[in-house]
Amino acid sequence: MITLISDIDGTILGDSQGLFELNGFLNENRDKFFIVYATGRDITEMHRGLFTEGLIMPDAAILSTGSEIYTVENGIFTPDTEWENTISVSWNKKAAEESAEQTGCMITQGKSEKFKVSYFIEPSRADEIRRMLECRFKENNVRAKIIISHGKYLDIIPENCDKGKAGEFLIKKLNKPAQSTIVAGDSENDVDLFESFSQGIVVGNAHSGLRLAANNRDFYMAGAHCGYGVLEGLKYYMQRFQTV
Ligand SMILES: [Mg+2]
Repeated sequence: MITLISDIDGTILGDSQGLFELNGFLNENRDKFFIVYATGRDITEMHRGLFTEGLIMPDAAILSTGSEIYTVENGIFTPDTEWENTISVSWNKKAAEESAEQTGCMITQGKSEKFKVSYFIEPSRADEIRRMLECRFKENNVRAKIIISHGKYLDIIPENCDKGKAGEFLIKKLNKPAQSTIVAGDSENDVDLFESFSQGIVVGNAHSGLRLAANNRDFYMAGAHCGYGVLEGLKYYMQRFQTV
């Protein structure tokens, strides 16, 4: 069985015909895949994806950029408390928010999640803002990770957590082999997934941040965009697995 750990926005979603074709393929081969979504979405946005945006039901989900893991049985999402305990050790949300406020140039996205705080930033100042925030973290003794995606979204999450680490934790816990795991993504917040696993699909519409990180490594660079790109990559890997 293949474990597919895939980002949602810009990877599976983004082209309705591509989504339709990909879903058709996954449904036809449902017994061959353990499907995990790995996304910046929270649980409400995940459900919206399932019920109004056409995503098929996964077997597990890594939400809020790796800060939450859920296993799914009969459509019921159950949070993994062991993961929560692991990442909460060094997390101080209030101090992270105060540090962001002190930079004076981060606008809150207004979402309150237990292990993630999200901001809008000015794309032209992304590197400068990252450095400023890192300085504040040092001064305030905050141990956290900064993830910037699409240049304008900045997330702060616990230091020992990201989509990749969450994926590693999940497959180990479920006894799924890493060598039959395929990741898929389109942007900078998927880089960690590609660092944790050795097989992956970079969709044709991927941002340069992910392309650069995936460069010169043995990942499948799809020509097609979004769902079509994931499908192209899955067919490539399925054929490769058969010939090994
Ligand atoms: Mg994405």
